Amino acid sequence: MSSRRKCENSTCKGSCIKDKSFDEIKKKAEFLKQIWNRLKEELRPPEAEFTFLYRNEYAPLIGTICDERVRTEYAWRFPEWLNSKLGGITLEKIIELGEKGVREYLEEYFKNKWPSGMKKEDREDYLNDISGYIVDAMNFLKKRGVTPITMFENREYKAAEVYFMLRQFNGIGSKKAKMITKYFLFTSMDILKNYPWFDQIKAKNPEFKVLGVIMPPIDVHVVKVFCRIFGENLRNWNKAKNDPDLIQDIEAFSQLAFPDIPMIIDEIFWNIGRTYCKGRFPKCQKCPLNEICDYAKEMQASST
Ligand code: SF4
Repeated sequence: MSSRRKCENSTCKGSCIKDKSFDEIKKKAEFLKQIWNRLKEELRPPEAEFTFLYRNEYAPLIGTICDERVRTEYAWRFPEWLNSKLGGITLEKIIELGEKGVREYLEEYFKNKWPSGMKKEDREDYLNDISGYIVDAMNFLKKRGVTPITMFENREYKAAEVYFMLRQFNGIGSKKAKMITKYFLFTSMDILKNYPWFDQIKAKNPEFKVLGVIMPPIDVHVVKVFCRIFGENLRNWNKAKNDPDLIQDIEAFSQLAFPDIPMIIDEIFWNIGRTYCKGRFPKCQKCPLNEICDYAKEMQASST
């Protein structure tokens, strides 16, 4: 089946940027730079809120592994809850629990926290996958004689190096690895004041920092906001994120807007997508991108 997308907009020429001049594209990129100056002041990823993640070496990794298909805040609170149940999280305790034991704790914790509408079989998949990933991660660390903190040395890393180090863990796919790398980059550059995993490494290794260019992950929010600001609307955003042309377009646009840190596009679009650019009912009137959004303009024109 083709992964190419089919726009619902009747005026579409096959891609949201096909009928845009470079000046129009550049104008949007320039606007995003202004938006970023405002947004970065408020930048605070959900995991940065939870103090336990700054205190336990394994907590940021476990929170990261849990953070999929469920509410982010619940995922990041799980390590602290587990810590209270186990009387302390250690590598040995988790290995001893094994997949079955970790699964039982996960099941107990998520009993009242599942997303509404999540099917029973999807919950089962989550419990099986996540418990397996957590135990795999601990075995991986044990084999190498390191923790998620001591696996990093007291030196400067390239973003791509950190990305591939993180990708070694089962349960850290490309999107999560890029997300963590992004926050390591932002904290290294003082864009972000605190990030638990980074801060724990830095406390042990003062020279630790992450620099260099890495492309943003292409998730549903990124695809949705990118397409809509160029006037394209789709029914299936999930499918669109596999469209090779769209991925290339987003990467090129990210480099145009933020040549030094293309990852910023992910931060902006992810926040806008989550807060305003909802699937069927985007909150365009409140959205900070309203001024440059072709889809919002079309919607406004068709309703007057
Ligand atoms: S203005 Fe509306 S359609 Fe455009 S990015 Fe914002 S919420 Fe999405």
